[in-house]
Amino acid sequence: MNRAGAFTHVPNWARRFLSQDPAEKTWTCATCGEITPFHFGQGWYARRRCACEQRAEELRQRQGVARTLGQVLTEAQRAQTYRWLGASWAAHELEEKTFTNFERHRQPAAFDRTRDFAFNPQGNLLLYGTFGLGKTHLLAAVANLRRAAGRPCLFASAVTLFDAIQERVSNDEDYQGLIKQAIQTPLLLLDDPDKPKWSAFREEIYYQLIDGRTRRGLPLAMTSNYAPAELDHVIGGAARSRLMMGIIPIPMSGSDYRFGVPSGDYS
Ligand SMILES: [Zn+2]
Repeated sequence: MNRAGAFTHVPNWARRFLSQDPAEKTWTCATCGEITPFHFGQGWYARRRCACEQRAEELRQRQGVARTLGQVLTEAQRAQTYRWLGASWAAHELEEKTFTNFERHRQPAAFDRTRDFAFNPQGNLLLYGTFGLGKTHLLAAVANLRRAAGRPCLFASAVTLFDAIQERVSNDEDYQGLIKQAIQTPLLLLDDPDKPKWSAFREEIYYQLIDGRTRRGLPLAMTSNYAPAELDHVIGGAARSRLMMGIIPIPMSGSDYRFGVPSGDYS
C-alpha cells in the first residue's frame, strides 16, 4: 500500500510546506540547535518552528494588536473633538475647515498668528471681530490641525455647550463631568461665548472653565464679537481677568466688516 495513503492528493501549494523526506524539513537554529520536523502522519513532514521563532511571532502579533488598538484610540480621540458633548451635538461641517481651505489673503495676519498657535498652543488665543470674517473657520482649523497630529482637543460652540448642560440639568443628570472635561483637555476651543444670553449661571461656568485652565497652564482658543476689554459683560470680570493672563488678541476686520471698529484696547 502507498505509504502516503489518503495524502496522495496533496495540492501543490501544500507541498511547499510538506515533504515525505524528513531531512528536507529538518533545520538548525543558531540558538536552539537542530529542529526536527513535525510528523503529520502517513509519512508527511512539515518544518517545525523553534522557540525563538515562536516568540518572535507572538511579539509580532502583540505589536499588531497594539498598533490596531493605538489606531482605534486615536480615532476615538479624534471623534471626541466634536462629539464630546454628545453625538447629537456634533457639528460635522467643522471637520472640513482647515488652514489649507481658508482664504489667507482675506486675513493674513490672523491666519499666520492662529496657525502659529495651532503648532504650539500656549496662552489664551482670542479671535475677535464681527460676523463673516472666518473666526469659526480659523478656530476649527486649529482643532483639525491638532487632531491630524494625534493631539486631543475639545471644540464647543458656547450655544451647544449650554444646550448640552441644560439637557443634563433637565434630565436630572450631572453636568460637572462636561465641565471637568473642558477644564482638563489639553486644548479647549470655545466658539462664540457671546452668543448665549448672559446669565449668572453662564458667567459662573465661564469662570470655572477659564480659571480652571489658567491654573493648570492649559491653553484656550476662543472667538468673540467683542474685543478683550469688552468681555466683562459676556464672561464676567473675574473670568476676563483670568483670560487676560496670557492673552493673545487677534483682531480681525475686513470686507464683511460693517458694524464699526473693535476698540483694539486689550491692555
Ligand atoms: Zn531558535
